[in-house]
Amino acid sequence: MINDAIDELKNEIGEDNVLTSMFERVPRAMAHCIFPMHKWRDHIPDAVVTPESTEDVVKIVKIANKYKIPLVPRSGGSGLADGALPLKRGIVVDLLKMNRIIEIDLDNYTATVEAGISLDELGRELIKYGYVYPDYPASRHAAFVCARIATNGWSYLSGYYGHTEDLILSFEVVLPTGEVAHIGGGTGGKIRKSSSGYNLKSLFLGSQGTLGIITKATVEIFPAPEVEYPAYWGFRRFEDAYKALGMLQKSGVSCAGGWGLFDEKRVEFYRRDLDFYIDLSEDIKVVVFWWLYGNEDEVEVARKRLFKICEEANGTFFGEEVSQKAWAARHETSVPPVHGRKDGNVVPMVWVMEDPAVNYTEIPELRLKWHNIIEKYGFDDWGLIFVSNRRSKRGEYLAGIMIGVDETEFLENESRWEDYVSCRRDLLNAALDAGGSLSAGHGAVEKGKVELIRREFGDETFKLMLRIKKLLDPNNIMNPGKYLLDLAYGGDLIE
Ligand SMILES: Cc1cc2nc3c(=O)[nH]c(=O)nc-3n(C[C@H](O)[C@H](O)[C@H](O)COP(=O)(O)OP(=O)(O)OC[C@H]3O[C@@H](n4cnc5c(N)ncnc54)[C@H](O)[C@@H]3O)c2cc1C
Repeated sequence: MINDAIDELKNEIGEDNVLTSMFERVPRAMAHCIFPMHKWRDHIPDAVVTPESTEDVVKIVKIANKYKIPLVPRSGGSGLADGALPLKRGIVVDLLKMNRIIEIDLDNYTATVEAGISLDELGRELIKYGYVYPDYPASRHAAFVCARIATNGWSYLSGYYGHTEDLILSFEVVLPTGEVAHIGGGTGGKIRKSSSGYNLKSLFLGSQGTLGIITKATVEIFPAPEVEYPAYWGFRRFEDAYKALGMLQKSGVSCAGGWGLFDEKRVEFYRRDLDFYIDLSEDIKVVVFWWLYGNEDEVEVARKRLFKICEEANGTFFGEEVSQKAWAARHETSVPPVHGRKDGNVVPMVWVMEDPAVNYTEIPELRLKWHNIIEKYGFDDWGLIFVSNRRSKRGEYLAGIMIGVDETEFLENESRWEDYVSCRRDLLNAALDAGGSLSAGHGAVEKGKVELIRREFGDETFKLMLRIKKLLDPNNIMNPGKYLLDLAYGGDLIE
């Protein structure tokens, strides 16, 4: 069956766009997420296709439907939720060849790109005109503009510009049965606010390739800010740092990209592994940081106000040079492989991050619960980061739990993988107990997390999700095995 489909694909989209060698398939099974290495071979796709246009994607989807073969969209492969992993094998749709920037409209502040354009590529083009697309994950170098819709991404600059969901105006999506739908943005795709009918944009946000393949998007662009001013502050006590965060929330400063906090364990990890933290005085235990964006005059006024807040809360400013370095390093501190500690020795480890969203009032108690859970399971605790999560920067935080994991342990001992899954489940159940959400930006797809979607949504809402999936994708070809959606077809859960 797969061979018939491959022959048909070669006829329809050209031999060069259908890849079947092991050499070409293996890299498309790789993902940044933690995954049991001993099961990795089970998820190498049967083939990879590299469409060059929306028409190619339509042909691929129709052939996959005819033979009922799974399709898994793949962009930068930097997703942290197993999303691009072909859990049921099938065909990976690698979108890299759809790499045109279709239009930059400086008068209406929009850019339109194909699915194979990364945030970095768009950024490099826009800056030539003095503009930016301010969707700003730490993975900006690797993440793609359209994939950000599929993951409903979280941006470091959301306090000033909003997240992916605020910045996407419209997109084109090839539905699971091969029709092409244009979602949002009025007839020209550039309208920001409309109340004509259902808001279908939201349906595809966070869909992780289960509802179709997004082939084109129009996004909002902005003039580049005159000033970017990050400031890092050291605190001797968690309580003071937490209070400072509360006062920053009240400040009413609108030109802040956001603010956040590294707790004691995170600072310990940085001091151990990151040069510029090593010289900091040992009595600094917790770090609060904020970053301002905008015109020089507004940033200057805001800077004074935020300095006063941190000084009054007993904070110590690290200075501009260290702050600039620390801010720039947000793209580097988490790229695996990183070294961790096991039995006192330095060993290569992968970086794992859970990213629930929680309210401000829950932070102190949850923090202690989380450290206890990681200790109980014996993983390397790389500490916590709390970052403001909305444009208002008030009340709600992305709560990042960083863990170092030696994946070779899973090869040696299957039960260690089960430990990891239980640890993740305990951490996330604690976030749900605190009224939170499983994920602020990565998605809730992996084992240990995906089972808890039913708890977060409630049974009726989860059933609604199943009904929508089956309606749009009657043959379950789009990224099967994700989000427990196989239940809509009476299928099994993920391995
Ligand atoms: C070091 C590091 C730091 C990170 N920091 C952040 C951060 O700060 N904020 C944040 O939000 N994320 C972060 N991430 C996670 C990741 O970069 C984002 O989830 C990103 O949106 C994934 O984009 P991608 O192009 O790599 O998508 P992929 O990994 O290729 O795919 C992700 C999911 O989207 C689906 N998909 C991909 N393209 C399409 C398409 N065109 N149509 C439909 N479905 C599609 C895939 O099937 C998969 O389910 C980080 C990752 C790393 C490795």
